[in-house]
This record gives sequence, structure tokens and C-alpha cells, in this order.
Amino acid sequence: MRRLTDQQVDRIARGLASRLGTGTSPIAEDPGVAREGSPGASPAAVVAPIEGFGLGEGVYDTVDACVSAAAAAFRNLSAASLSKRGEIIAAIRDTMRLHGDELARLAWEETGLGRYEDKVIKNSLVTEKTPGTEALRPETTTGDNGLTLMEWAPFGVIGAITPTTNPTSTVICNTIGMLAAGNSVVFNVHPGAARCSMATVRLINRAVIAAGGPADLVTAVARPTIESATQLMHHEGVDLLVVTGGPGVVAAAMKSGKRSVSAGPGNPPVVVDATADIAKAGRDIVFGAGFDNNIICVDEKEVFVVASVADDLIAAMRENGAYLVDQAEMARLEKEIFAENRGPRTHGVINKDLVGKNAGEILGRIGITAGPEIRLIIADVLEDHPLVWTEQLMPVLPIVRVPDVDRAIALAKEAEHGFGHSASMHSRDIEALSRMARVIDTSIFVKNGPIVAGLGAGGEGHTSFTIASPTGEGLTYPVSFSRRRRCVMVDHFRIV
Ligand code: NAD
Repeated sequence: MRRLTDQQVDRIARGLASRLGTGTSPIAEDPGVAREGSPGASPAAVVAPIEGFGLGEGVYDTVDACVSAAAAAFRNLSAASLSKRGEIIAAIRDTMRLHGDELARLAWEETGLGRYEDKVIKNSLVTEKTPGTEALRPETTTGDNGLTLMEWAPFGVIGAITPTTNPTSTVICNTIGMLAAGNSVVFNVHPGAARCSMATVRLINRAVIAAGGPADLVTAVARPTIESATQLMHHEGVDLLVVTGGPGVVAAAMKSGKRSVSAGPGNPPVVVDATADIAKAGRDIVFGAGFDNNIICVDEKEVFVVASVADDLIAAMRENGAYLVDQAEMARLEKEIFAENRGPRTHGVINKDLVGKNAGEILGRIGITAGPEIRLIIADVLEDHPLVWTEQLMPVLPIVRVPDVDRAIALAKEAEHGFGHSASMHSRDIEALSRMARVIDTSIFVKNGPIVAGLGAGGEGHTSFTIASPTGEGLTYPVSFSRRRRCVMVDHFRIV
């Protein structure tokens, strides 16, 4: 793995952060996301070295120990005020501002997936744009019979299962949303990302305690396995499951008998029609599909382009860091990408060694030397090609030429496999954009931008790294981790 110098990484990260609008304090520019706590009242950031493995600071060796510690912490938090919750979250944000880059490096080194500089952006994004307690807006109804108040109440102890692709950012994002809603959480993280995830959990515990909150609001199983995940899913002390990952973990959570917020896989299609700003579409697609080497579930995974503008789109992509493979190169590449090619229009089995690798490293496997400016490999393929139908999680993007926009939308719908996850379209035709929005029916639909804009990175709105399409919450936030509670005052406090 090629290592960049710190200076190179800082330069790249700053450039990307400014492009994505996640620079030093994007929250200040986003009126939709308020900071918790009163201005200036935020506790001092916790400066502390990050240790990896080891018990303590929320890390326990058994699921039982995690759940019982988190249950005690939940009881303590329930006795605290809403403003204390806000202070705790402000302290977590401050700590992550200090340590987000370090955690990004740990995640990159441990998993070997993606790009360090993009992981820095992901950590910054969740730190700044995950909503906190301000998202819990009570509703009131008044009338002749008095007043009814609808409140958002916590579930209790949440069991959260996280992926290897966004390990630290999911832990940070889940934690902020779940604690803001008044819960505590037990994490069973991906075994391949345990070290960086434990470091994140330990830092969060330090921040909570420094803010005067209870220990163990966030706990984690020190050596997570599928068995410990299964145990957590069935533990009687767990009140809600929140799982983020592929189809296996979603199916397991939904069969557990517990309520679950389940965030599953995607295969986000992009449609480009003849009215699009092709230069911008090319730039945005290369940026989005190359972001963190395509391991994010929302990253563009296949393109359907109207034939009359296909050559121009490919040219625009090449100008922006894409390498176009020819047919002979594609035949060699396929052998590297698939551990098992199951044929046309079918999800193949991918070669795990290439997941999340740089485009240059993947090209190297077929004898092509490419510089660091190449962020994405593109291939001009027919619609049946298995690359179109496979969530590969690597920077290799198939492009399919289609006769017209309706065919493009129909194919996009099919290639998305009904996950209802994410999609995008580049077009200036309002009717076509609206048609695709209705047909594709995904939790995230981005018009004229990279799909990461749908995560609030360079687009408006809050972020989430748990996009729960199967269970319907979409981009999760504190309300997704809350119960509705009604409080009724009869015949008093009425409006007249
Ligand atoms: P993965 O499914 O291999 O693992 C995710 C987590 O689930 C891990 O902690 C793993 O240990 C656990 N797990 C897996 N199978 C399980 C089972 N049968 N029972 C209990 N636990 C189980 O996924 P990954 O490779 O870490 O992440 C990539 C996948 O996650 C992709 O499919 C991607 O699209 C998806 N993803 C979705 C979202 C979203 O918000 N919808 C976000 C990130 C990743």
C-alpha cells in the first residue's frame, strides 16, 4: 500500500473538504443543524492519546457485560436534563474534531480499504452534520378538551452493528444520534475494523465523562464476531437493534424478533440524458464513484447514458481522472474483479482482495501503470454485463449506452435491485428528473451532483451513515432512535 506523507494528505484533504463544503466548520453555514448546549458552554475538548485494544472506557469482553454497563448508563442518562445531553454531544463533537484525522488513519491502516483523505472527510462530515437534541421537536395539539403533547422518548439500550467500510464514521454518527435521543448503545463492530472502532468508543467515553455524563453510555464488545453479533441481536437487555451492512446482517436483524432499524446494501445507478451539462456530469460522477474508492453504499455504481452524449460523457470523465479500459483490458480486469462470474445480469462474487483498493493498484493487476491522478476505472459495456448488476465496492464503473432516457430509467430501476437505497440523474429536463424520482423511489435521489451530496456533503441537509431503506427510516437521525410518547392534559391548558 502506498503511503502518502502527512503534508500530501493534509493538502488533499483540505482541497476535498473545501470542495465538499466540510471545511473547518460547515455547521456554522448550515442553518438546519444547530449546535447543542449554550454557546461557549461546551466542555473543553478531550486531548488524549488513542490506545487501541484493551478493556476499559466502554470496551468489555462479553456482550453481557456491555449490555449491563450500558443499561446502568441509560438509567443515569434518563435522570439527567436535556441540556446535559446536549453538552455530552457537544463534547463528543469537540473530541472528534481533534481526533477525527487520527481515527481516519487508523481505519485506513486497519481495513486497507478506501482513501485516508476521504475518511478524514467522512469523520468530519458526521462530526459536524449528524443532528443532535435539536432534532427532537415535540408536537402539541390544543382544543376544547385540553392539551396533548407528543414527545420523543428513548428506547433504552440499543444494539448497533457496524460495517467495515465506514467503521469510525458509523460509530460517531450512530452515537450522536442515539445519545441525543436519550439512549445508550452497545456496539458489535465489524471484526476487521475492531481496533479503530474501539479507539473511537474509548475517546467517546472520555468525552462523555469530561462533560459530566455517565460512563458506559457507549460500550463495545472488545473482540466482536458474528456469534457476538447474534448474541447481541437476541439479548433480552437490548431494546432496539440498529444494523448497518450487507444483506446477511439485515436479514438476521429482521428475523431476530426485535424491532430493528436496518440499513442494507445498494447498487446506486446514475442516469445521464441528452439535456445534461455533460462536462459537470463527468466531473461529478468521477468524483462520486471514486470517493473512498467506491466503498460507500451511496457511491455511484453504474451509469446509463443516452447514446447521443455517451462519447462526450466518457471524454469528460477521462478529463477528470478516469481511465477507460478497452475490450481486451476489460476481459483481463473481469478475471481479477470476480472471484466468481455468474454470468449476464447476475450479481457476481467479488474478489475481496480488490475491494476498496486504489484504481492504480487494480490496473496494476492487469499490467497497466497509472499515476495517482487516476481515481476511477471506467468500462463501456453492454447492459447485461455483470459489473452493472454487482455491488463491487471498488473504483470500477460500468457505463451502458441506451437509446433514450426512458430506457435509462427503466434499466436503472432494475439494476438497483429494489433496494430503494440511492440513485442520481444528470439532466436539465424537469419532467424526466421528476419521472425518475418517482420510478426509482430510493431513500436518496440526487439531481445534478455526486450522490455523496445526498449525505449532506456539498448538498443541503443532515448527514447519516446508516441509511435504513428496508425498514423505512431513510437517513437515520435522533427521531429514528426514539419512541413516540403522548402526554394528555384533559380540559386544562386549552386554547380558550
Ligand atoms: P457486512 O454485511 O459484511 O458486515 C456488516 C456488519 O454485520 C459487521 O459488523 C458484520 O460482522 C456483521 N454481520 C455480517 N453478517 C452477519 C450475520 N449474519 N449476523 C450478524 N452479524 C453479521 O458488510 P461490510 O462489508 O462491513 O459493509 C459493506 C456492506 O454494507 C455493503 O453492502 C454496503 O452497501 C452496506 N452498507 C450499507 C449502509 C447503509 O447505510 N445502508 C452503510 C454502509 C454499508
